[in-house]
Amino acid sequence: MAHRALLRPVRLAPSSGFGRTCRIARPFSTVIDAPISAAAQQVPPAAPSNAGSVFSDAVNATGPRTNWTKEQIAEVYNTSLIELTHGASTVHRRFHDPAAIQMCTLMNIKTGGCSEDCSYCAQSSRYNTGLKASKMVDVESVLEAARVAKANGSSRFCMGAAWRDMRGRKTNLKNVTAMVKGVRALGMEACVTLGMIDAEQAKELKNAGLTAYNHNVDTSREHYPSVITTRSYDERLATINNVQNAGIHVCTGGILGLGEKPQDHVGLIYTVATLPAHPESFPVNALVPIKGTPLGDRISKGETKTIAFDAILRTIATARLVLPTTIIRLAAGRHTMREEKQMMCFMAGANAVFTGEKMLTTACNGWEEDKAMFERWGLRPMEVEETMGGKEELAEKAAVQPAGAEAQSSSTQPTTA
Ligand code: SF4
Repeated sequence: MAHRALLRPVRLAPSSGFGRTCRIARPFSTVIDAPISAAAQQVPPAAPSNAGSVFSDAVNATGPRTNWTKEQIAEVYNTSLIELTHGASTVHRRFHDPAAIQMCTLMNIKTGGCSEDCSYCAQSSRYNTGLKASKMVDVESVLEAARVAKANGSSRFCMGAAWRDMRGRKTNLKNVTAMVKGVRALGMEACVTLGMIDAEQAKELKNAGLTAYNHNVDTSREHYPSVITTRSYDERLATINNVQNAGIHVCTGGILGLGEKPQDHVGLIYTVATLPAHPESFPVNALVPIKGTPLGDRISKGETKTIAFDAILRTIATARLVLPTTIIRLAAGRHTMREEKQMMCFMAGANAVFTGEKMLTTACNGWEEDKAMFERWGLRPMEVEETMGGKEELAEKAAVQPAGAEAQSSSTQPTTA
């Protein structure tokens, strides 16, 4: 009862969106209904200025830049977490709607049997993980899965195949282009991850209407050889180059928890921040250890530690400051995070999630679970038109449309769920 006496009615500003009277708690020492003294109304002294620092320049950025040095990114990364996340949130609100989170669904269109030795992956044929390899899924089954994803709010449908590269896979590529066309016809963004591709294959995918190609660099250049030996960092960058040259958006990011050090998080961000153009999408995965893979086994023996949440948050916040316009995807491992942790990631700049029944071979948060979380926190699914790819596409269409045709064609545009 004593606490009730400490509540006083307050009229909230109209801009708060709540045109009603409510009660807020006052400190115990406050005399109820006493006029607020001039001293109490004084604004607290300004925090020490760090104007001109790398961090403050990043917070005040008005656009992306690709001339970052590793030292500059390290300076941002090593800022105190409370300042770093606040700065990232500031930048996030300048370039994105903080309430809009893109829901994506990732389907494995060809499982297992991969010749590569990525030491975290259940789909490598080199490791005994109990995963059964299967043939490519047929086009109609993929499109049916995309329709379900769209009906549940996903605006991006991603298709992954466990291949090293696309050499000699003409029929497979033909099927993938049919899937891409079908997904695009549903009004969704289409993304594929098929391993390494050359310039011709990238062109073919672009012609099919592919929105984005995912090819993660995984970690820093320095740490990469201790994770994968069957293809080099530069081979990965060559595929990304082919994708960018074909005019397809690049989705490239990393996995945290591969036994790396903090400087490798900096190195990962440095690699993507200094590409000729920033990637449209930067997925941040937290390793899901799988028994039978070298990394999964090292973790179960205690030889490698799982990634700490503060390192995930720090990486997301740094990526938001360094890649201000990029969509940052909270990817694998999200299902192991409590809702509050996910929210901290959204507040620090993450603005996309994978939702559905499965994420390749690992567990995934379901649609109903995500819808309920969005509802609780005032979030909403991002529309295709809000994404970088969507905006560019609208601009391209507007540029080729004859004058006066806009009203007629807009009624035939596919809509998102
Ligand atoms: S991550 Fe990709 S390339 Fe590496 S083993 Fe798994 S499926 Fe193959």
